[in-house]
Amino acid sequence: MNYCPNCGEKLVDTIIDNKQVKECKKCKYIDWDNWVYLAGVVVAFNNKGEFLMVKLHDQGKITFPGGYRDIGETVEEAAIREFYEETGNKIKDIELYKTYTSDKIRLVWVVYKAKIEEVTFQENDEVSEILFVSKNNPIDSKLLRGSLTERLYQDILKEL
Ligand SMILES: [Zn+2]
Repeated sequence: MNYCPNCGEKLVDTIIDNKQVKECKKCKYIDWDNWVYLAGVVVAFNNKGEFLMVKLHDQGKITFPGGYRDIGETVEEAAIREFYEETGNKIKDIELYKTYTSDKIRLVWVVYKAKIEEVTFQENDEVSEILFVSKNNPIDSKLLRGSLTERLYQDILKEL
């Protein structure tokens, strides 16, 4: 950004804590240039210890259910909502797992683990199929959508 969002003054390049930032000399606003989008993501396990992934209409790529947090909801609420929108199923025993960050796409995934029972599925705008994945039934890594999916997938597989 070039102008201060508080007072409209032109921002100037400055070094703070060894970082190149932009500062407003008038009101001291600092543009840290570190904003990220937040998404809530769910790894849901069935009672056989398999976890659920979604196959997207978009190029048949496979990822975990989840999506961007809307203003006014918590990240956990976003994860639950997105899981429901993409799979039609409710989750229980939700707990925080890990976060994953991509600077390239300015995105942080806040990942939850959860349980799922009595799964039903109907194809929808976003998802063509749901898959239950295990060590014996892995995903072709070429089909994983993007680096965050790959990292989370590897971490979950390691723990099985
Ligand atoms: Zn200012």
